[in-house]
Amino acid sequence: MTLLTVWVPGDQLLETHPALERAVAEVGRAHVRVVLIESARKLASRRWHRQKRVLVLSALRHYAEALRAQGYAVDYRQAESITAGLREHVREFQPDRLVTMAASEYAARQAQMAFRQRLGLPVEVLPNTQFLVGQYDPFPGTQKRIILENFYRAMRRHFKVLMEGAEPVGGQWNFDKDNRKPLPKTLTPPPAFQVEPDAITRQVMAEVDADGIGVGEIDGFAYAVTHAEARAALADFIAHRLDSFGPYEDAMTTRHATLYHSVLSPYVNLGLLTPLEMVHTAEAAYREGRAALNSVEGFIRQVIGWREYMYWQYWRMMPALAESNSWSAERPLPDFFWTGETNMNCLRQTINGALKTGYSHHIQRLMLVSNFCLMAGIHPQAVVEWFMSLYIDAYDWVMQSNVVGMGLNADGGMIATKPYIASASYINRMSDYCKGCRFDHTARTGADACPFNTLYWNFLIEHEAALRANPRSGPAVLGLNRLDADERTAIQSAASAFLKSL
Ligand SMILES: Cc1cc2nc3c(=O)[nH]c(=O)nc-3n(C[C@H](O)[C@H](O)[C@H](O)COP(=O)(O)OP(=O)(O)OC[C@H]3O[C@@H](n4cnc5c(N)ncnc54)[C@H](O)[C@@H]3O)c2cc1C
Repeated sequence: MTLLTVWVPGDQLLETHPALERAVAEVGRAHVRVVLIESARKLASRRWHRQKRVLVLSALRHYAEALRAQGYAVDYRQAESITAGLREHVREFQPDRLVTMAASEYAARQAQMAFRQRLGLPVEVLPNTQFLVGQYDPFPGTQKRIILENFYRAMRRHFKVLMEGAEPVGGQWNFDKDNRKPLPKTLTPPPAFQVEPDAITRQVMAEVDADGIGVGEIDGFAYAVTHAEARAALADFIAHRLDSFGPYEDAMTTRHATLYHSVLSPYVNLGLLTPLEMVHTAEAAYREGRAALNSVEGFIRQVIGWREYMYWQYWRMMPALAESNSWSAERPLPDFFWTGETNMNCLRQTINGALKTGYSHHIQRLMLVSNFCLMAGIHPQAVVEWFMSLYIDAYDWVMQSNVVGMGLNADGGMIATKPYIASASYINRMSDYCKGCRFDHTARTGADACPFNTLYWNFLIEHEAALRANPRSGPAVLGLNRLDADERTAIQSAASAFLKSL
């Protein structure tokens, strides 16, 4: 009788896993063994946030328990590396074939392709079902620049999300004009969803605490680690925050870390939720009158628009994407990124928040951290390394596309058609950070000038020709016309002094 082994990588914890389904359909559950591996090499490969390590390990151990409860034979291994773990498994159990699902990350998929040779047995790699673009590619094989809006509309049409026949519900694809508001002082968002750690999670927390490796705090770990808990997190978002998601999705405040955001990326990226489950639940809330259309559309755009688009871009641009550096940025990352010790209140709050929980919301990631790094000329892969280490939801597919592409515009503009740069006036408009800051958000030069201003104007001066050539960044660069030669020189020397101080 044929014996099959299914290897489920730690970020593919799907309830309905195609490799499991395939193996069971072929030989029956009694002849299938599942191997799950904790790789010491992967865990030591960078300074991961301690809560990320807890999340990933606890979710994997819970997944093993769930499979055992369904009657699967599970071989759970702690090995030097994934390949070493698979080798040990093959030696012990002598399966006839290994069945697995294509990894979402480039390097991991390359490794999968070499398994047949390295393990000495037939290996079947099934298509990845964690992303909708695995089922439907709206622009197959194209090398052209595809903007998010066109990609998103194609996804809505194909998956029939928020559609009335061929038309978008409400007659519009986009409700941005109703969104992007700062948070009013009188409004306090509901608390974030939290899960009390169970015995398995507490055990992992103790192990991670004991080895002392990584960055960030462990105490306060409150993420979901099972499908049921992740579903409860989704239900909590739909019931308490979705209705106000749209208007305040770009707002930032010292008063609340997560505002009306869903905090579901850690789960969907691990396979504890699926993108369609997220969008269908949100759409149902709109159709049943429990959430406003501008918010529901805004959320759906994030999930089947931005998230799928980023994965799609990653796979058409790798491995070159990870080498891209269009703005020739070469500076190392300043040390304060690892400690949060900076006088810039916005970055201090954001970095300390990330150290505490592994989370920042999108605008903090894009308009504070990436914006600063782009204008300060930090090397793209130094920024990737920091985001990969600090964030609870970080994986290579989401990092290269968001950091190198969207955040730093280092990919030649394939993902974002213009660099996302902004001065302190944007930060002041969208947040309450500037009020508690030692720097003056209205000043461009001088000892108290906000570095975001100095760097913003310096970036425009330094890259004036390239920016003028791009019609989308034209309006920003037009502001340079108001600066005389003395002001330009003052900005450039202030920026140079600031950058040296880093
Ligand atoms: C520089 C930078 C780094 C980022 N790093 C990550 C990362 O490591 N992991 C990650 O999942 N997302 C990343 N993002 C995208 C986005 O910021 C996060 O998905 C989001 O902040 C997660 O919080 P949330 O679940 O509360 O999101 P919400 O605001 O509630 O959005 C809903 C969902 O949409 C999806 N989504 C929205 N935008 C994106 C996007 N650009 N890329 C991928 N998914 C998206 C996420 O799954 C998210 O859960 C990054 C964005 C930038 C600009």
